[in-house]
Amino acid sequence: MRIAVFGARGKVGTVMAAALAEAGHDVVEIDLGDPVALDGCEAAVDFTQPDAVTGNVAACAAAGVPCVIGTTGFDRGAVDESARSAGVPAFHAPNFAVGAVLMMRFASEAAKHLPKAEIVELHHDTKLDAPSGTAKATAELMGGGVPVHSVRLPGLVAHQEVILGGQGQTLTIRHDTTSRDAFAPGVLLALARVRDLPPGLTIGLDTLL
Ligand code: NAP
Repeated sequence: MRIAVFGARGKVGTVMAAALAEAGHDVVEIDLGDPVALDGCEAAVDFTQPDAVTGNVAACAAAGVPCVIGTTGFDRGAVDESARSAGVPAFHAPNFAVGAVLMMRFASEAAKHLPKAEIVELHHDTKLDAPSGTAKATAELMGGGVPVHSVRLPGLVAHQEVILGGQGQTLTIRHDTTSRDAFAPGVLLALARVRDLPPGLTIGLDTLL
């Protein structure tokens, strides 16, 4: 497939452009300031920044190109509306690492059995949004009202601990992303499936697994 990668020179975009090319796709790199050249593209991927997503998805919608969104902290209502009104699908996962999806699933199950929990999410110090999209999605899956603590330090990639407490015991569920390669299989899966999704925004890798 010919695939546009928005944010292709960013930390995740660089890894993703290489992984898509290695998987046999024809990659069109679009970073800040580049022309939005979507001619002939069958899908797009966005790993940019929250404010950029609405405009990028609107450009995709106008060109009839389904978009897989990795960027977190964007305006989901605006993106859903622009994709839906153009009759084009869009997909977003707060976390494309399969291990992180499982961590969220296990945390949701554990929350049914232990009365209190807190989330500690840890990321590199250039991450723009806090709490992370993964932490917000985990808290929601656990029934809400779960406090989230955000740590931003150089040396980190993306990590999350869910600590649950009960009488005389704690349970810790932890996921570590040690390399941004972790996101590639989930993005490839979403690209393979996005054109079959209904118009508008579909959220969560869980819906595709
Ligand atoms: P990053 O290193 O800052 O990369 C973002 C790139 O996007 C930069 O090269 C930036 O250019 C470019 N950009 C900004 N606006 C753009 C636009 N309108 N069109 C095209 N390119 C544009 O950030 P990152 O660490 O790669 O993370 C990117 C996003 O992915 C963040 O929101 C992060 O939270 C998210 N993320 C999601 C997952 C997931 O699994 N869902 C995993 C990791 C990260 P400039 O540098 O010139 O501004």
